[in-house]
Amino acid sequence: MAGIYIHVPFCKTRCHYCDFFKSTNLAFRKQYLEKLLEEIRERSDFFEKNNTPVQTIYFGGGTPSLLKVEWIEKILESIQTNFRVIDNVEITLEANPDDLNFEYLKAIKNIGINRLSIGVQSFFDEDLKRMGRRHNALQSRSALEWAFKAGFQNVGIDLIYGLPWSDSNLFLSNLDVLQEYPIVHLSAYHLTIEPNTQFGKLKLQKKLFEIEDSKSEKLFWNLHDKVEQLGFEHYEISNFCKEDYFSRHNSSYWNNEPYLGVGPGSHSYDGNHRYWIKPDLHQYVTKGYSEGLSCESLTTTDRFNEYLMLGLRTQKGIDIKRMMENFEEFWINIQPKVQKWLDSDFLECEDGYIRGTRKGWFVIDGVIKDLFLVD
Ligand code: SF4
Repeated sequence: MAGIYIHVPFCKTRCHYCDFFKSTNLAFRKQYLEKLLEEIRERSDFFEKNNTPVQTIYFGGGTPSLLKVEWIEKILESIQTNFRVIDNVEITLEANPDDLNFEYLKAIKNIGINRLSIGVQSFFDEDLKRMGRRHNALQSRSALEWAFKAGFQNVGIDLIYGLPWSDSNLFLSNLDVLQEYPIVHLSAYHLTIEPNTQFGKLKLQKKLFEIEDSKSEKLFWNLHDKVEQLGFEHYEISNFCKEDYFSRHNSSYWNNEPYLGVGPGSHSYDGNHRYWIKPDLHQYVTKGYSEGLSCESLTTTDRFNEYLMLGLRTQKGIDIKRMMENFEEFWINIQPKVQKWLDSDFLECEDGYIRGTRKGWFVIDGVIKDLFLVD
């Protein structure tokens, strides 16, 4: 199975914490669409070698909800024409609450969008204002109501935790909304202060700091416990879902399946190579994708490290049998280190899988780094 990711690199304004590639110049949207359709046509043989059917389509950004309904429809039609798409394909659209209204939601549902990921971030206006978000809490609630009224069943929200000015009880009260609406998916990301952002500048001026690690860890497990009590499964370090409502698209990344990314700043993977398109909107709309396309061949070490990293971030962990089949020598090579983490209770081994324990999962990135191999 395979996935297609469409990068929509537009935002009305920049949020204070965000370093994703995007442009606030919305005037290029029409030209972007034309070049995007061209790219989809020209890369239609991306999966042809193994004739892999497309099972997920994901509009991410940026702000995909800034696209008109007819544009989204054109993109979907082009994908259907140029790729082998399965019947019950998962089609996700990331959306900002302030872009949504009942008519828009109904219209995108009618053209095939069947999964919504709404960038709520917080249900407190003070948080939203300080993060530079364009919407308020009331707009998030309205967006949720309209989404369910329009007939969406697969609706998820994004939240940010670890805000320096907030406290844990306030953040955790955001989760009450999971009892008020039939939300089936939650992505919760810890705030990181990136250098090239408004928050990065404030950090340099010593006006804003990340919260202490001990507080972050406590918050992570409070979040985990509360969301699990509400019937969600914590299936990846930042993701929770109700039964069977995991993101099929993101799970295919974690399962090492191929995907094609289109649009400036997007990445693709065919099992052996990684491709990326330069995050340059002007170049993309004037010269097309091929000018900015780069490719690198992945070594076995790269693929091993990738599988290790993605697997250990999931609740399921890494499949030892699969490791032995694909990377026997590498896997044997890191056994002393794996044993060290098992002995110190950061990792556990169960049913043929190795995964992070309660002590280890929050700091899993450090464990992964230790296990990485270098060529
Ligand atoms: S809307 Fe999303 S992509 Fe755009 S600036 Fe804000 S966080 Fe970044």
